[in-house]
Amino acid sequence: NIKGMRGQVSVFEPHFADSNREQLNLEEYLKRAIEEARFELWYQPVVNAVSGRIEQFEALMRLRDEQGELISPDRFIPLLEESGWIMLLEPWLLRSAISAASLLARRVPGGSCVAINICGQQLLDNGFIERLLRILDESACEPSWISLEVTERQFLEHPERVIQVLQALREMGIRVAVDDFGTGYSSLAYVKRLPVEHLKIDREFIRELPHSEPDKAIVNSVGRMSEGLGMHVIAEGVETQEQMEWLKAHKVFLYQGYLFARPAPLESWLSDEALGLVL
Ligand code: C2E
Ligand code: CA
Ligand code: CA
Ligand code: CA
Repeated sequence: NIKGMRGQVSVFEPHFADSNREQLNLEEYLKRAIEEARFELWYQPVVNAVSGRIEQFEALMRLRDEQGELISPDRFIPLLEESGWIMLLEPWLLRSAISAASLLARRVPGGSCVAINICGQQLLDNGFIERLLRILDESACEPSWISLEVTERQFLEHPERVIQVLQALREMGIRVAVDDFGTGYSSLAYVKRLPVEHLKIDREFIRELPHSEPDKAIVNSVGRMSEGLGMHVIAEGVETQEQMEWLKAHKVFLYQGYLFARPAPLESWLSDEALGLVL
């Protein structure tokens, strides 16, 4: 009796059924949000302890639910990437981030760049570099005013091709950063071949500083390694003064985190007061 079976399944696996339905609802919701162009791009600064100024901004995607509450990107970004829909958002994403970069670089004292998160599908797409160059040109944006953040996972899946694309980007003057560094098990032999400027240490390793001996050891060795490789380390998720002091004492000078500022819409970064944010 099928009807009875169904009843049983929903009794024994209520959680599973719920989250499946939620997933389907989110997919439908995302599809509509793409059609209606309802995504937003917010910006969070990275500050430099040496200059005491904002050095770059990371562009972070935002989407609201029916009640107007923000949906966590950790919920919708994986879906956008798995479905390939991220490609539909790319023109909007690149245009918005690059026009913001063009504006901010001219207004931030000492200049700045905007870091854009790029997934593997985008990076490995044949037309990617061409599209990027066209938008930079249309927005009167210097290549060095943007940085592309790529995760370690992308290197593991297509190492040679990724190195080739990153090399081409660097030759054009576009900056490159490895995101979520330390979470993706990338081999050191591999890291040394990467033409990147910044390593972003994941918040996971920053959260318990300076109270976790393993995290201290990890952050310390990433710092020393990056020095030898000519890369700069950005610490993500810096929330306390104590974390910042420890990082500074261990020669990590670039910080992104709630201690300095939360992500916010571009408009809120356009005042002299906001851009004068200093350590
Ligand atoms: P991510 O690239 O590692 O971005 C950093 C995340 O850390 C952001 O989360 C940011 O809001 C959060 N964060 C920064 N400082 C602090 C802090 O002090 N405390 C805490 N608790 N969190 C902090 P967010 O905005 O929720 O984004 C989550 C992830 O979604 C990003 O992680 C990135 O992987 C992805 N994402 C966001 N926007 C885009 C996008 O435009 N394209 C792609 N492909 N992925 C994106
Ligand atoms: Ca990022
Ligand atoms: Ca990150
Ligand atoms: Ca992260």
